[in-house]
Amino acid sequence: MPATFPRTTFSLFMPVTLQDLGWNDHFQRAFDAVAKPGWMPGRLIRETKINFTALLDGGEDVDAVVSGKLWHDAATDAELPAVGDWVAIDPGEAGDEAVIRTILPRQTCFSRKAPGKSSAEQVLGTNVDIVAVVTEPGTDFNPRRMERYFTLIRRSGASPLILLNKTDLFSREEVENAMQILRELSPECAIISISALHNRGITEFRKCLSKGKTICIVGSSGVGKSTLVNTLWTGEVNEVTGKGRHTTVARELVLLKHGGLLIDNPGIREIQMWTDEHTLRESFADLTELAHECKFADCSHGKDSGCAIRKAVDEGKLDKERYLNFLNLENEIARLAKRQRKRQMNVERAGKRDRKVQARNYEDRVELERRHKPNHRSHD
Ligand code: GDP
Ligand code: ZN
Repeated sequence: MPATFPRTTFSLFMPVTLQDLGWNDHFQRAFDAVAKPGWMPGRLIRETKINFTALLDGGEDVDAVVSGKLWHDAATDAELPAVGDWVAIDPGEAGDEAVIRTILPRQTCFSRKAPGKSSAEQVLGTNVDIVAVVTEPGTDFNPRRMERYFTLIRRSGASPLILLNKTDLFSREEVENAMQILRELSPECAIISISALHNRGITEFRKCLSKGKTICIVGSSGVGKSTLVNTLWTGEVNEVTGKGRHTTVARELVLLKHGGLLIDNPGIREIQMWTDEHTLRESFADLTELAHECKFADCSHGKDSGCAIRKAVDEGKLDKERYLNFLNLENEIARLAKRQRKRQMNVERAGKRDRKVQARNYEDRVELERRHKPNHRSHD
C-alpha cells in the first residue's frame, strides 16, 4: 500500500501552469526580451491600495509592489499595472518585497473613460479574451444598449458573447424572437440562451471558457450576473488562492474550476452605468450644439427670448418629447448617479457579508484538514 496522502487540500496544491493562466508565445517573447536573471512572469489577480497579488508558475501567489521606475515612467494611470496584466516580477533577495518591474504588452485592454469631466482612461481589466454581455428577453432587452456594449468590447480587442438569461421565464417564441434580434444586430457574435438560476445552457457557456481564456461578465443590474458567477463557482474554494469564493477585494481574477479565468469587479460589472450617462449626454449632442445659437449664454430654454431650441420645437423641427427630455437631462443624470451610489452601497454591504462567509469557510477548511490529517488525534 502506498502511503496515504491527506486528500482534503489537494485542490490547494493542484499544479497550475502559466498556460492555465493565459500565458502564450506573445507573452513569452515579451518576457524574454526584458527579463533579468531571477525575474519571473506572473499574472496580476488582485489589486489593493498598496500592492498587487500575482500568480506564478505552479499556482503560488505572491504580493508585489510597483517599481519606482515603472511608477515614474507611467505617463497616465492606464500605463500602471492592472488586474489581468502579465508582469515581470523581481523577487529580490530573501526577505525583500517582490517588485513588479515591467508590464508585458497587453493583448487586450478593457477600459472606460474615468467618470466626470477628465478624459483619463480607467483600466478595468486586461488581457480579457471574451466579454460576456448578459441580458434577458424581458424589460432589460434593449438593442441600442447592446450596440453600446459592442462598441466598448470591440475597442478593448476582446470578443463579445451574448448570454440571454432568464429564459425559464419566457415562452420559446419570446426567446427565439429576442435571439433573432440579437443575431441581426451582430451576426458574428455567439449567442447562448441560458437560465443561470436553473443551470440551463451553462454547459454550452462553459465550452467558451477553455483553458487559459479570460472572460468578464457585464450587463445591467438585475439581469443575473451574480447568479451566473455563482453557478460558475461550483467549488467553494478557489483552487489557486485557497481563499473562499467571492473574496471581496475590489478587483479580482480567479481561475474557474472547469477551465478559464474570470475577471470580476464592480467596475466591470457596472460598466453600463457610466456608458448610460455618457450616451445620454451624447444622444443630445445636437441640442447642446443648437443651444450655442440661443441669444443668452445662460438660456434655460424655457421662456427666455431668443431661444434657438424652443424655436426649433415651435417650427416642428424638433420633437417636443425630446425637447422635454433634454430639459430634464441634468435631473436624469443626477438620478443615475444616485442609483449608482446606491448600488455601490449594496456592493459594499454584500462585501461585508461575504467576508463573514469567507471567515466561516476558512474555519471549515481548517477543521476538515485537522480531521483528515493521518495519525491525527482529535482533541475532543
Ligand atoms: P445581477 O444584478 O446582474 O448580479 O443579478 P442577480 O444575479 O442578483 O439576479 C437578479 C435576480 O434575478 C435575482 O433574484 C435572481 O435570482 C434572478 N435570476 C437570475 N438569473 C435568473 C434566471 O435564469 N431565471 C430566473 N427566473 N431568475 C433569475
Ligand atoms: Zn435656449
